[in-house]
Amino acid sequence: QFDPSTLTTFADAAAGHEGVLSDPTGAVVVKPCTEAEVAFYEKANTSHPEFARFMPAFMGTLKLGAPSIPQSNSDIVPSSADGASGSALPPPQIEGLKALGHLPRTHAPSTSIPPDDASAAGLDMNDPGPLKGRHLDTELHIVLENVASGFKQPNILDLKLGAQLWDEGAKPEKRARLDKVAGETTSGSLGFRVAGMRVWQGHNKVDPPKQTGGKELFTLDSNTNVLTYNKFYGRTFTAENVIEAFKSYLSVPSAGISKEISLSLTQNFLSEIQEIQQILESQESRMYSASILLVYEGDPVAWKEATEADARYEDEDVEDDDEDEDSGKKAFAVKLIDFAHARFEDGIGVDENMLKGVRSTVKILQELEREIPS
Ligand code: ADP
Ligand code: MN
Repeated sequence: QFDPSTLTTFADAAAGHEGVLSDPTGAVVVKPCTEAEVAFYEKANTSHPEFARFMPAFMGTLKLGAPSIPQSNSDIVPSSADGASGSALPPPQIEGLKALGHLPRTHAPSTSIPPDDASAAGLDMNDPGPLKGRHLDTELHIVLENVASGFKQPNILDLKLGAQLWDEGAKPEKRARLDKVAGETTSGSLGFRVAGMRVWQGHNKVDPPKQTGGKELFTLDSNTNVLTYNKFYGRTFTAENVIEAFKSYLSVPSAGISKEISLSLTQNFLSEIQEIQQILESQESRMYSASILLVYEGDPVAWKEATEADARYEDEDVEDDDEDEDSGKKAFAVKLIDFAHARFEDGIGVDENMLKGVRSTVKILQELEREIPS
């Protein structure tokens, strides 16, 4: 039912390490993870349902693509003419997936794995590739709902939370390195920074924005017209001007995102994040380097359809509702992600480190809400 050989590189990652995969339907992401992250998803789902509502649905774990399995390069190159390579991946150990049994049906295992994606699955011995630089050289993967699915043009913003970005288990070198970045960015001043961003620029060709200074901050894909902002982009802002990043995210005239849409989305995001704030204020937890993942429909036509479908859905009487079901189209989504260093623990009090970033985000969205109409 779920065939790991059909997994390919996830195209809608806004930040973070490489190595995130997706299935052919795009309904799920499969991400290298730690045991701690799996444990956190399990704990949240069993004991903290109000918080779990803001997490991607957890569908199970997979073991795949251990970099040590292929012995030579010839073992990993798809051998048959059509590139069919269902056997290129080691037999997966699937935990929880069958039991849950609600993964979408995938295509037959004849789907090819382009070399890039074979590498993304950790199969290329010569190129340590996506697993390079990861502290977790792991074959353990978590299977999650893809928060960006259901969107025609998902515009994505990853806000990395916390002024302290390391947990108690981190070595002094790592603490120092992360503290230095925090001190030089809005992580330190506001408790969050823009970790990455993807914004569709519309149907017509646009020129990439001018880049000043030495480092490349963004790239425009000329095929998709998606402008991807990398991790250095978010590091250029201060507490005083970080609102400009939110404007680049929410105001996209070339795509036809009007002020009306920007304002509506700002208000949608605001109320979701205020709810997250309330939940965090009422629970005892620690999350270091978790993110708020914001997604909205960047195609104005699809945004309108999704918004109208939502309004109809909410008007419907739940009882006699056969025709107007949830359309599956989404106007926006807000989730918390990245729980490699997260835990619930009685007696530790609320997570002020994370809350600082959440409250700052609320403030900036409120400022934006006031500014947009003018
Ligand atoms: P890390 O930062 O440790 O590499 P993350 O969990 O932050 O791992 O994932 C990296 C990126 O992948 C995120 O910035 C986000 O864009 C994307 N991503 C992760 N999980 C999901 C998900 N469930 N749905 C959609 N996108 C996701
Ligand atoms: Mn991350």
